[in-house]
Amino acid sequence: MKVFKFGGASVKDADSIKNVAGILSSYQQENIFVVISAMGKTTNALEEFTRELLVNSNNAHTHLDKIKEFHFSIIRELFQDQPNHPVFDDIHNTFVELDWMLDDSLGLSFDNAYDQIVSMGELLSTKIISHYLNKVGITNKWIDVRDFLRTDNNYREANIEWDVTQQLYDELKDNFFTTTNRLCITQGFIGCTSENFTTTLGREGSDYTASIIAFLNQATELIIWKDVPGVMSGDPKKFPEAVLIPHLSYHDAVELTYYGATIIHPKTIKPIQNKNIPLLVKSFVNPHTTGTIINNQTVSNSQECFIHKPNQILLSISGKDFSFIVEENISKIFAILAQLRVKVNLMQNSALSFSVCVDNFSKKTELIKKLSTDFFVKYNEAVELYTVRNYNNETLKRIAPDKEILVEQRSRNTLQLVIK
Ligand code: ASP
Ligand code: MG
Repeated sequence: MKVFKFGGASVKDADSIKNVAGILSSYQQENIFVVISAMGKTTNALEEFTRELLVNSNNAHTHLDKIKEFHFSIIRELFQDQPNHPVFDDIHNTFVELDWMLDDSLGLSFDNAYDQIVSMGELLSTKIISHYLNKVGITNKWIDVRDFLRTDNNYREANIEWDVTQQLYDELKDNFFTTTNRLCITQGFIGCTSENFTTTLGREGSDYTASIIAFLNQATELIIWKDVPGVMSGDPKKFPEAVLIPHLSYHDAVELTYYGATIIHPKTIKPIQNKNIPLLVKSFVNPHTTGTIINNQTVSNSQECFIHKPNQILLSISGKDFSFIVEENISKIFAILAQLRVKVNLMQNSALSFSVCVDNFSKKTELIKKLSTDFFVKYNEAVELYTVRNYNNETLKRIAPDKEILVEQRSRNTLQLVIK
């Protein structure tokens, strides 16, 4: 069995969905589990809607109307010749369920309500695509991933409960692939608690879902279909000189995603590495090109790779009484960072101060306030973090010819710069 993942960009309109159908039609000889994200920018739109509804409580419904119209316009185009196709009722009913949930969601915490609402994007996209594939003769089964993907109730960043998930999957799997069905369509990004609340796995989490399913079923291969030719040595939009990297080890892939390469979700590698399942990153625009293969074979990669993280904050934390920043202080600082779930992208220690570079995030005022109880905190906003793997002597000059470097860190093969 293979697992495929198609992200929002690959199903952003009727033509893209037809393209996905074209790709799937050439794989009809084997069992395939397809994981799909919400269409286009639907998740962002649902996020905005949720905020308008629960925080600002004004024109929320115009946001929802746009989301409805977006999905209906796609099905009108895909089912032009069948205006009475059941897909119209199915999508209509999904929106009715959303409406019911909106009343219930008012009593929930923001993060819980967010998950109940935002998860709709994946339910809509998979229903539409499953119907369409069946219509064009690509027989498939729509699976509700929440039937087996069990998580805790850490809403918006839920953690997988692996044992229960495996057990549920094993109980259901005989119904997924049968003699008459070789294709299953399911949702990325979402899961379910033991109390039947929907959860989400964190933004861009569909890659992770695909990797989880590959793990559960010991897939022979996972293919993530992208709008780029594969893993590139930098985001081509930011680094025009970027080239395709044909082969990466799991280790290299984890490092690249850890430093912020957005090509695959950072959590994707571990489950497939644990079961030694190869991952292919391929272009849905040119599906016949080879792309990048990620597996357990070490390759000597000397290709310089660039990762750029804009919108960072650099915090510099020092003792109030000229004390050294030693173990006790550092553990206090880390306790606060952990409590607010701040992701540290770089840190550096000196005798009197400790610097951390973190994503600019919504709880930053709270973070600074908490740290300020025991420390002096200075910070620089809107700084950028560059990470370069396999850097050379020219790298520094090229990235920051006329910019101020606030922090520079080097290991044998990685250079990191915080730049203003
Ligand atoms: N639809 C979700 C998001 O946009 C998950 C994903 O695309 O991977 O974050
Ligand atoms: Mg996406």
